Amino acid sequence: MNGLEKELEVLDRVSLERRLRVSASVPESPGYTVRGERVLLNLSSNDYLGLAQHPAIVEAMRNSLLIEGAGAGASRHVTGNRPSYVQLEQALAEWQNRDAALVFANGYMANAGVIGALVSRGDVVFSDQFNHASIVDGIVMSRAEHARYRHNDMEHLRALLNKHRHRRRKLIVTDAVFSMDGDQANLIEIAALKKEYGAMLMVDEAHSGGIYGLRGEGLSLELGLENDVDIHMGTFSKSFGVYGAYVCGSSTLTRWLVNKARPLMYSTALPPSLIAGISKALDLVQSEHWRREQLLTASAFFRSSLCQAGFNVGEGNCPIVPLIAGDNDTALRFSHALETEGIAAAAIRPPTVPDGTARIRFSLSAAHTFKELTDAVTRIRSIGLQLGVLDSCDQS
Ligand code: PMP
Repeated sequence: MNGLEKELEVLDRVSLERRLRVSASVPESPGYTVRGERVLLNLSSNDYLGLAQHPAIVEAMRNSLLIEGAGAGASRHVTGNRPSYVQLEQALAEWQNRDAALVFANGYMANAGVIGALVSRGDVVFSDQFNHASIVDGIVMSRAEHARYRHNDMEHLRALLNKHRHRRRKLIVTDAVFSMDGDQANLIEIAALKKEYGAMLMVDEAHSGGIYGLRGEGLSLELGLENDVDIHMGTFSKSFGVYGAYVCGSSTLTRWLVNKARPLMYSTALPPSLIAGISKALDLVQSEHWRREQLLTASAFFRSSLCQAGFNVGEGNCPIVPLIAGDNDTALRFSHALETEGIAAAAIRPPTVPDGTARIRFSLSAAHTFKELTDAVTRIRSIGLQLGVLDSCDQS
């Protein structure tokens, strides 16, 4: 078909072809997954707080299904805007200490929709080079200029802000925690720069929501920056264990998005059962602080154990722990060997990460025990030795 087969062959040859694997859940064991006949320790899920199978969430969804049915039937602008949507958005705004919140179908649509609604041709978006693909796609679709700054390089961001200081609309956008590296954006400096240059600031809290802050509000609020962040975006697909996304900010922002965000306007509302599940998850995220504590303690332990074993796992204090393997083939072989040893952990390759930094992206959950993680480190270490990854990594 128009040369697609040939291009796929090339992808396969350089170990870059993606293939969809089937992974089933294990009832009552959120830290595990099933592949074929085998039960594997799941070190590749974003179910950080271990809520994806929580009985209270499942019960809320089941009850809603019985009462409200399967689908919303139309977009929120038509007849899909159920009372539960409005209640959820009020609860989200209260949780985030902001005026208003707006639910989106998922994080990809939220990022694409918000950026497309706020900027257009002639405007400029300043975006960290490691920002999520949905942010990049949002910028491309908006037709605004993409001013990409080097990862966490505040001098570079300043230089670009200076260069574009006369533009009509300027938007700085960053992940709070970077999805493939697990490090944090320098939100304090970014907030200072946004004020100095009169830009808007958008923060994607997909990997920090539920994890930081006393009630899991995320990094901006933990740092006391909620009023400097004009657009706070978060997802329900990770710490919440469900699906969907939200944006918080001023009531002007949400009013604007209701009128301009195309993924919201031209797509069917989420099924009511999802809204019921998300609302229950929001209660649990806020009240069950022990999940955050357990997750962060386990993550620190796992990261330091891998580091002591001699792996290059970067720095950070979050449940995303990247083990840099280098080339694509080694990362793939590492992932296959882990599976043989009873661990599901995906190899992440370009273009998701820069060339030469293919990796295993471990992500932990409050559902994992120290015993499981200790055993996993032993197995990871022996695979690292076999594949020569330990020898080649930076042990400084
Ligand atoms: N932002 C970031 C930083 C993400 O990692 C992801 C998904 N992995 C998204 C947005 C998209 O969220 P969703 O999966 O809800 O579409």
